[in-house]
Amino acid sequence: MALDSETFDALIETVRRFVAERLRPLEAKVAEDDEVPSEIVREMREMGLFGLSIPEDYGGLGLTMAEEVRVALEFGRTTPAFRSVFGTNVGIGSQGLVMAGTDEQKREWLPRIASGEIVTSFALTEPGAGSDSASVQTKAVREGETYKLTGTKRFITNADKASLFTVMARTGGEGAAGVSAFLVPAETPGVSVGKPEKKMGQQGAHVCDVNFDEAPVPAANRLGEEGEGFKIAMRVLDRGRLHIAAVCVGISERLIADAVAYAVERRQFGKPLAEFQLIQAMIADSKTEAMAARALVLETAARKDAGQPITLEAAAAKYFASEAVGRVADRTVQIFGGAGYVADHGIERLYRDVRLFRIYEGTSQIQQLVIARETIRNGG
Ligand SMILES: Cc1cc2nc3c(=O)[nH]c(=O)nc-3n(C[C@H](O)[C@H](O)[C@H](O)COP(=O)(O)OP(=O)(O)OC[C@H]3O[C@@H](n4cnc5c(N)ncnc54)[C@H](O)[C@@H]3O)c2cc1C
Repeated sequence: MALDSETFDALIETVRRFVAERLRPLEAKVAEDDEVPSEIVREMREMGLFGLSIPEDYGGLGLTMAEEVRVALEFGRTTPAFRSVFGTNVGIGSQGLVMAGTDEQKREWLPRIASGEIVTSFALTEPGAGSDSASVQTKAVREGETYKLTGTKRFITNADKASLFTVMARTGGEGAAGVSAFLVPAETPGVSVGKPEKKMGQQGAHVCDVNFDEAPVPAANRLGEEGEGFKIAMRVLDRGRLHIAAVCVGISERLIADAVAYAVERRQFGKPLAEFQLIQAMIADSKTEAMAARALVLETAARKDAGQPITLEAAAAKYFASEAVGRVADRTVQIFGGAGYVADHGIERLYRDVRLFRIYEGTSQIQQLVIARETIRNGG
């Protein structure tokens, strides 16, 4: 159910002010410390950000997809690591439970996910199973009313802070049909989390390995039926891809604003850079791409809210918006010249940050495969 428009406008206004006044001044510090300050996390909890997408019955704000992408756009205007603090609770860490959980599972976990009392992670990727995620090898062997999980998950966002993992593990034969999904509390014996990886960008957001060594998980913690885990994961990712596309649009818009401000201020050959047509061409290309990506995101969100499938559209939105923000970031570095390459203005940092969007929640190549598969299936 959508919020009434006054309440939603107030939420957007609060988020906008929070991003501009609280988060943007902390960008360099968060990158340097590789940590989001705990008082910021507390403020995010108070604002209800961890529960944006959780139904109101379970303590969340129950935003529609159209509303959620508007919030994601606002969070694109700052270092993306801030969004990651609550990103898994809103998206990949909670939505399997929202879509496929029993009432009992939902009652047990969703209120604490919505409040931010606990952090959740989504554990699909493995050392040997990245793009080919249906080939996961983590095993879940049933013994009575318990499954024993054994295997390693890789690059799991927020794993070092998570209390609950949604884990895709093999209960049956090869391929997608042999995969089931489980809710696994981090405190389960046999579950251990590795050290955060050193990354190219998005410092402040952590990814770690998660190991399972015969970790006992009650059968009551399975999401859906045996063999439904891969389908659940793909539905979670459809939604996640659209959210990521919205973040890409927000960052594009931020970078364009930074580029324009600099081009108006900086003078060479006796004129502001903004008067050179070669600079204007870069601004025009960036603006056009950001507008196109925004339109794609908003249209896909409306389609989802209307109950229509979005597999193709979400893949197209993520593919286009993540590639576009890479080009926008590259042009912005160019417009800033040397000042774009050195750290002072934070442009090189965003340039590194946005590189991830073409890789996670399905690489650009995987989005192309999904778009082509769906288009061919639909007869064009
Ligand atoms: C910072 C970060 C956070 C992440 N968070 C999570 C998380 O929370 N949970 C989670 O489960 N995973 C997470 N991931 C994993 C991420 O989703 C994978 O890295 C991604 O899906 C790609 O898998 P891979 O790295 O194994 O690359 P590979 O699959 O090995 O791909 C390498 C290259 O080959 C290309 N390729 C692969 N197959 C094909 C094909 N059929 N046709 C054409 N090209 C192909 C890819 O596009 C890519 O360019 C995260 C990754 C990172 C870096």
